[in-house]
Amino acid sequence: MAVDPICKMEVNEQETKWFSKYKGKNYYFCAPGCKKQFEEDPEKYADKD
Ligand SMILES: [Zn+2]
Repeated sequence: MAVDPICKMEVNEQETKWFSKYKGKNYYFCAPGCKKQFEEDPEKYADKD
């Protein structure tokens, strides 16, 4: 399972239709609204390495 960076819900990455690639890492979302919010400001929600 992956964790939706927006709402912190667990997301099954095999099943979700909403994901986004940012700086070489995949992020998974529970809903299109979460994906949209991430893509509007990915720096804010992406993992800090
Ligand atoms: Zn979500």
